Amino acid sequence: MPMPMPATGPQATVRAVTGAAADAVRVVLEVDRVEKVFATSEGGTLRALAPTSFEVRAGEFVAVIGPSGCGKSTLFNIIGGLEPATAGEVRVDGHAVSGSHRDIGMVFQEESTFPWRNVLDNVAFGLEVAGMGRAERHEKARTLIRMVGLDGFERRLPAELSGGMRQRTAIARTLASEPRILLLDEPFASLDEQTRMLLGEQLIEICGALRQTALLITHNISEAVQLSDRVAVMSFRPGTIKRIVDIDLPRPRTTDMIGSAAFGRYVQQIWEELKAEALRGMQAAVR
Ligand code: ADP
Repeated sequence: MPMPMPATGPQATVRAVTGAAADAVRVVLEVDRVEKVFATSEGGTLRALAPTSFEVRAGEFVAVIGPSGCGKSTLFNIIGGLEPATAGEVRVDGHAVSGSHRDIGMVFQEESTFPWRNVLDNVAFGLEVAGMGRAERHEKARTLIRMVGLDGFERRLPAELSGGMRQRTAIARTLASEPRILLLDEPFASLDEQTRMLLGEQLIEICGALRQTALLITHNISEAVQLSDRVAVMSFRPGTIKRIVDIDLPRPRTTDMIGSAAFGRYVQQIWEELKAEALRGMQAAVR
């Protein structure tokens, strides 16, 4: 479903000032030798992340893929400020960040809408907390609701929506706060295959229209290839970025592209990188 481009959308104004050319090469996020060691309940330690470094440029869409337990969520929680790093630094626009940060917006796997608020008030929530007046926040929320294809559902409560519509509400709510970086932690994991492919297509259009910098955790190789400019493959525990694969496929990336030979080659290449790590993960699980 084509998404309307906002002529004067909430982020268009801000982003227009920076200029497309400068934005295209500017590094927004730097993850610099980030490590994480957890204390376990048995009194030991677990090294979840070995030193991990990568950069994300403005407007890029980067997927992080890796076997269960390799530290993907830990990495995202550190970037999003929900978890402190044991060592290393996260920088946004060159400034070290710690703790939750308004430049970084997170969308989680589990549904995170407020059940007692309708779609409009869910999407406007962050703006309300930030003190924005009712008329202004509702106008901004409506723009985002239109972008995620939920117009007509503004007054519905989350219980009256499908799982996919609730996730779109959560994505719209996070985008309403204009984060510099959108972190998506398996946002489509609980949805059926067809819905996740269609939502993926819609997410690409939205991120493209807003020139939104985004990082996505996924287990799904096709999803990673469909959405991303680059796919970062993580090793099994202690996790680190093993390889970054550039996805040189034309945009717009529609679901039709999934059957193409070039698409299949990327899926195969990433699977080859991932297979050894997934096997290590399986062996660790049975030990
Ligand atoms: P992934 O998202 O790739 O599945 P996680 O980041 O959730 O992996 O977890 C990485 C490793 O760190 C796992 O072995 C997990 O059990 C461990 N872990 C995650 N959070 C904690 C915690 N709060 N305390 C102890 N161990 C943790």
